[in-house]
Amino acid sequence: MRLTPEQQNEVAAQRGEAQLTRRATVPALEEILYEPLAVLDHGFIRVVDYMGEDSAIVQAARVSYGRGTRKVSEDRGLINYLMRHRHTTPFEMCEIKYHVKLPIFVARQWIRHRTANVNEYSARYSILDNEFYVPDSDHLAAQATTNRQGREAVLEGSAAARVLDLLRGDAERAYAGYAELLNEGASGEPTDPSRPGLARELARINLSLNFYTQWYWKTDLHNLMHFLSLRADPHAQYEIRAYAEVMLDTLSRWVPMTYAAFLEYRMNAALISATGLAVIRRLLAGEQVDQTTSGLSPREWRELMALLGHPV
Ligand SMILES: Cc1cc2nc3c(=O)[nH]c(=O)nc-3n(C[C@H](O)[C@H](O)[C@H](O)COP(=O)(O)OP(=O)(O)OC[C@H]3O[C@@H](n4cnc5c(N)ncnc54)[C@H](O)[C@@H]3O)c2cc1C
Repeated sequence: MRLTPEQQNEVAAQRGEAQLTRRATVPALEEILYEPLAVLDHGFIRVVDYMGEDSAIVQAARVSYGRGTRKVSEDRGLINYLMRHRHTTPFEMCEIKYHVKLPIFVARQWIRHRTANVNEYSARYSILDNEFYVPDSDHLAAQATTNRQGREAVLEGSAAARVLDLLRGDAERAYAGYAELLNEGASGEPTDPSRPGLARELARINLSLNFYTQWYWKTDLHNLMHFLSLRADPHAQYEIRAYAEVMLDTLSRWVPMTYAAFLEYRMNAALISATGLAVIRRLLAGEQVDQTTSGLSPREWRELMALLGHPV
């Protein structure tokens, strides 16, 4: 995470200011407001704004005039009920805005989530920094054989060194080509006055997917939880998961009751098919059931057994 001294000063200036407001604020989130939280080698997430908190969900659900006089335990019960029964619109009453710096290949996965408002850094207008993602050695793994969308054993020794050389070398060469195409010095003057530079919107096409981009990303709490349920899940690619995990932490600071309900009824809960449920009922009744008599495919059977803590 590299912030220029000017960017650090801007963040510090924002963090130094406080506003008097009648709106509800959340001290635990205020604590990290505007602060860049490091993700991957050069990325970050900053919460730059938010609206509402747990009580806004309760107020919307009850269509009340104010904070109301209910007890904390009643609010928690109501939030749990809403989450459990997928009564989702009260959660849409809260919004959050993030500033995210992320590699382009992560941005391509992230942008598939259409229920958000996005404004990305323009590489037509500005010059991209020489910052690209190179996986940490712990995450440099071979292609999985069982799951085409996954990784398996971590690479070691000369194989790992060669991969890192290629990733770094290719990105450095791409950036050198980009800089040559732009032909622009720090203050905009040509680095080689004998030739024209290429338009920024074209020069950038030379860069690889591991270069960093940035955007502002605003969404409501309901859609944020949908995003997190997919992207903080172990099936998601590690790099986007790294962002989702930091966002989970911001969620726990912002709306602690909703966060707890989200973990209980979504993230750590399971969706079981009708046939899977029938298998569980038969097992509870003491019946011997195996995959062939379960009615489940071998894969579904493995998944159900893993869910029940009996991996096969
Ligand atoms: C592990 C994983 C692997 C993936 N692999 C691939 C892949 O190989 N190829 C690929 O292309 N994508 C892939 N995706 C992306 C995935 O298919 C979704 O596009 C992405 O997760 C966004 O989900 P979403 O549409 O539910 O989210 P959002 O766009 O935020 O939408 C939220 C919800 O709003 C509703 N909605 C939004 N827009 C519409 C619409 N136009 N019409 C109807 N309903 C709408 C839907 O109910 C949707 O679930 C993968 C995602 C994950 C998590």
